Order: sequence, then structure tokens, then C-alpha cells
Amino acid sequence: MLSVRLLVSALTMSSLVLGLLGLLEDPSAACQNLTAYLGISQTAVSQLDLRYISSRNSYWNTKLNAYAPACVVYPENAQDVSFILKTIKASGSRFAIKAAGHNTNDLFSSVDNGVLIDLTHMTGKSYDASTTLATYEPGSSWGDLYEYYLTYGRTVVGGRIHDVGTGLALGGGMSYLSPQYGMACDGFRELEVVLPNGDIVTASSTQNPDLFFGLRGGGGNAFGVVTKYTVQSRPIGTLYAGNLLYVFDQHERILNATRDFILYNADPKAAVLMNYNVLTDA
Ligand SMILES: Cc1cc2nc3c(=O)[nH]c(=O)nc-3n(C[C@H](O)[C@H](O)[C@H](O)COP(=O)(O)OP(=O)(O)OC[C@H]3O[C@@H](n4cnc5c(N)ncnc54)[C@H](O)[C@@H]3O)c2cc1C
Repeated sequence: MLSVRLLVSALTMSSLVLGLLGLLEDPSAACQNLTAYLGISQTAVSQLDLRYISSRNSYWNTKLNAYAPACVVYPENAQDVSFILKTIKASGSRFAIKAAGHNTNDLFSSVDNGVLIDLTHMTGKSYDASTTLATYEPGSSWGDLYEYYLTYGRTVVGGRIHDVGTGLALGGGMSYLSPQYGMACDGFRELEVVLPNGDIVTASSTQNPDLFFGLRGGGGNAFGVVTKYTVQSRPIGTLYAGNLLYVFDQHERILNATRDFILYNADPKAAVLMNYNVLTDA
């Protein structure tokens, strides 16, 4: 194992030199080195590999399925992410970071002919009852996190639809709990971050506070890869919720009702989410 890693390091160093000289932009060098280091259980290079198919086709905006990564890598910890970023940098390859793939924009979490870093193997989570802090890795959906923390009678501030991913919090994050507790990123207490140069650092109000500030709403894919979130959890009580559905030409009344809620609601525990859906002819 050691000799494999030494060989990979040597390959990486030679790629680094070529990359620095601008001679390598082909993602195949990065994909080869990543496969050698991480092993086939954490890499998918074939477009026929079921994991590749799943990673490529699980975007909420299905238009993004058209982008074909050269390979998909599945890090399991910050050290893997560090190696991946160093390898990508050395090869000059394009890349993208993907959590749950709900960002609708081209090339935000999708990549054509580059390395796709799929975070869905990083699903560790824990709860510390002495501090009431919750810690989770970036690969879970909000629904998974809510179910997990529910067993402790707690929750975290996150997305309003269960299959949205943790990238939401890096962009701020509006939650049903936001009127009471603020945005998802307001709950951040400490983040483990892998910087573009591969360094693994902590960002908090006392360590790297500028980085911490930027990560609280500055958007995903901006300053590095967040590999662990430690956030303030919140108590969960009885929830009263439901859907009101209106059809056809009620949009004026719905708009007015939503406006009135925003203007006059004084209950910080109350929230509303308005949706317009167009039903196409079947
Ligand atoms: C159906 C639906 C419901 C939504 N509901 C809400 C809502 O209730 N509240 C709200 O505020 N927003 C909501 N959104 C918007 C949502 O917050 C954004 O689309 C968000 O980018 C999705 O995060 P993701 O992890 O699912 O997506 P991804 O596309 O995987 O990631 C989003 C961005 O963050 C980057 N990123 C992800 N993880 C990391 C990481 N660990 N480190 C560094 N960069 C990372 C990615 O590269 C990408 O640029 C919703 C979107 C959809 C499609």
C-alpha cells in the first residue's frame, strides 16, 4: 500500500510540474492518479458504471445530465478531498463539487470532461448533548439529517424539501425555522474546510474568521470544500403543517395572502412557502 502511495506521489509530482508548465489539461492524468490512490471503490471512470450513471443523472435540473465528467470520485474524508484537490490542480483538469445536485445552474456542481467530486459517501453525523451542537458531513440530504437528529429531539436549520443537499447552507439557506433562528448558515459554529491547495483547516469565529465569514452565505464552491459542518442544533416540538392547494385562476388571491402573511405575521414559529406549478397536458 505504501509503495502504491509513493508511486502515486511521484506521478502526482510529475503531473504537478507539467501542470505548472501548463502542459497538461487532459483530465485523464488526474483520473488515473485518483483511481490509483483512492481505488476503484471510490472512483468511477466508465460511463457504464452504475455509480457514474447515478452521479451524472441525479441533478434536479435534468439539463445538467448532459455534461459528461471524465471520472467521478467519491471521497470519504477530508484527507481524500485534500489529495483530490492537489491532484486536480497538478493536472490542470476542470472539476466540480457536488453534494445533492440541486443547484440549477450550469457547471456549478456539474462538469464536462473534468473530475466530478461527488460528496455523497461522506454521510457521517453526530450529536453532542453536552453542547447541543450537531456535526455532519456534506453528503447527506436535509431529510436524512432531520430524521437522524429527530431521534435526539433536535433538528438543524436546513432546506424545506427533504432531498435538497447541504450546499444550501453555504449559500445562506432559507428554512421553515428561519423566522425563529435565522438562515441555515447562521447556525454554523465550526467548519472543516479543504482549501484549494489541499490544506485542511478549521473555520470558526476564532480560527480563520475571514474564511468563516465568507462561508456563511458566500455560496458553494467559493473558498474550498467543506468536509464537516458543526452547527447549533434546535429543539423540535409538535409541528402543525399542511398544504393548501388552489387551482386555476386563484393566483391574485394567493399573492395577496402571501403578501399579508409577510406583512402581518408576528409569530416567529410560523412560516409559509408559496409555489406555482404549471400542470402540462398529460
Ligand atoms: C426543489 C428545490 C428546493 C429548494 N428549497 C430550498 C429551500 O427551502 N431553501 C433554500 O434556501 N434553498 C432552496 N433551494 C435552493 C438550494 O439551496 C440550492 O439549489 C443549493 O445550491 C442546493 O444545494 P445542493 O447541495 O443540493 O446542490 P449542489 O448543486 O450539489 O451544490 C450547490 C453548490 O454548492 C457547492 N457545494 C456543495 N457542497 C459543497 C461543499 N461541501 N463544499 C464546497 N462547495 C460545495 C457546489 O459546487 C454547487 O456550486 C431549493 C432548490 C430546489 C431545486
